[in-house]
Amino acid sequence: MKLTDYFLPVLKESPADAEIASHKLMLRAGMLSQSSSGIYSWLPLGLRVLKKIENIVREEQDAAGVNEILMPTIQPADIWKESGRYDDYGKEMLRIKDRQGREMLFGPTNEEQVTDIFRRTVRSYKELPSLLYHIQWKFRDELRPRFGIMRGREFLMKDAYSFDLDKESSRASYNKFFVSYLKTFERLGLKAIPMAADTGPIGGDMSHEFVIISDTGESDIYFDNRILNLTNIDENIQYNSDLSTIVESYQDLYSVADDKFSEDDFNLKVPEEFRKHTKGIEVGHIFNFATKYSEPMKANVLNSNGKTVPVHMGSYGIGISRLVGAIIESSHDENGIIWPNSVTPFDIGLINLKIKDFDAVKICEKIYLELKDTGIDILYDNKDDSPGAKFSRMDLIGLPIQIICGKNSVKDGTVEIKYRNSGDVKLINISDVVNFIKNK
Ligand code: ATP
Ligand code: MG
Repeated sequence: MKLTDYFLPVLKESPADAEIASHKLMLRAGMLSQSSSGIYSWLPLGLRVLKKIENIVREEQDAAGVNEILMPTIQPADIWKESGRYDDYGKEMLRIKDRQGREMLFGPTNEEQVTDIFRRTVRSYKELPSLLYHIQWKFRDELRPRFGIMRGREFLMKDAYSFDLDKESSRASYNKFFVSYLKTFERLGLKAIPMAADTGPIGGDMSHEFVIISDTGESDIYFDNRILNLTNIDENIQYNSDLSTIVESYQDLYSVADDKFSEDDFNLKVPEEFRKHTKGIEVGHIFNFATKYSEPMKANVLNSNGKTVPVHMGSYGIGISRLVGAIIESSHDENGIIWPNSVTPFDIGLINLKIKDFDAVKICEKIYLELKDTGIDILYDNKDDSPGAKFSRMDLIGLPIQIICGKNSVKDGTVEIKYRNSGDVKLINISDVVNFIKNK
């Protein structure tokens, strides 16, 4: 992509109402445009990152054997009346009436909708477990939308649902999601800590929030520091094997969200040198709620004895749009964003400092086309701006590698390669650029 063709409205100054780094940087880097409180348009650069995150989440759900569907954003109120949540949900729910006066709502989550799909279609225990997910916009009329897309009113979520015959098999489904979440967040360049969370009246130990450490997070987290040293999930993990050892290796180390925290427990279970209390951002939440929805909504199957029983369910969310902000919170410096390779909007930024020099333009065009041909995503800054403006813009948008073409390129046949993360710069011959980048 050539910058002269690209819609990238970068800002010099941070907008006054943006409080945290990710919000400031997303607006400055031209990723977002605010529509109204907590509601945003995604501009080209932001949309690229959102799509990359969405795809990684999708690949990992598919790898874990979860089926993708797409449920509507607008749901009928009736199913929420059946579950009893229509009144409970309160003001966060956006309620609408259609022209016939029927009550509808913009979905804040999809337990009722997915349970309705299930009960219309599945009859026997033989078809279980059923694992379904979708990636869809949600609306919650949050009391305090803030920090840009971190706490938006309209936001993109991956939500999955599991249906099992009994408690024991629903634990196996739960473990699948537990492990696949660890792997998903690793791929996004994040260290997400699973924190035991409150299960309310349902009880048990099957609720975890996945939280990344960040000063600007809204959650208080308490954990045993050694949880950060647990090894990564194997790339070829078999989701149908017994995953309980992996899950237990996490659960054995104290880590709880504030709704479950007890000072006495913390002091008792964690030696002082490992005790850690920090702020964090919740990027995912998994929760087993047994028959909470299946009972009132009559989502039943026949078990092996021919008896009708309500299915055991769980739900599993990942905040895809929130993750864009969370990644920036954990990876930026005073000059701008530093994208992890897996989600960067472009792999390479090519800067031509001599846009009026015919030979420099020829060199850059050649590098641009050759890299593009190898399937590398490249943003070519061919704009007629000062070097200072070009450098700061490229640093701001955070692409991992920059190729800088200046007066030495024409004279000596070299370009500079600059790594955004370390700031290291090295000179290489123009004829080696494509191979060098391909090998990265
Ligand atoms: P929070 O505690 O942050 O309000 P929640 O517990 O209400 O979140 P869930 O219902 O568990 O959220 O939703 C699953 C995921 O969706 C969360 O882990 C979070 O990453 C994301 N999410 C929830 N609310 C928002 C929001 N208002 N804006 C952006 N992402 C959100
Ligand atoms: Mg939650």
